[in-house]
Amino acid sequence: MMFAPFCPTHDSKVLMTRRNVLSFWNGPDGSVIRWKCTCGHEGFLDRHGDSSDCVSHDEAAAILVP
Ligand SMILES: [Zn+2]
Repeated sequence: MMFAPFCPTHDSKVLMTRRNVLSFWNGPDGSVIRWKCTCGHEGFLDRHGDSSDCVSHDEAAAILVP
């Protein structure tokens, strides 16, 4: 499993693997991942934001800063 959420500290998308996943659960809109970047930033990613391609939902901003 690999994903590339936007990390505000890096100011870019960062490729992560399941080793970066703190927790994972199913929310009302599907699975949600809580991740921790190598820089220490933590965020959330739902299934709309888990694509590194051009899915431009607002939910792609689904990276919520705790
Ligand atoms: Zn980072």
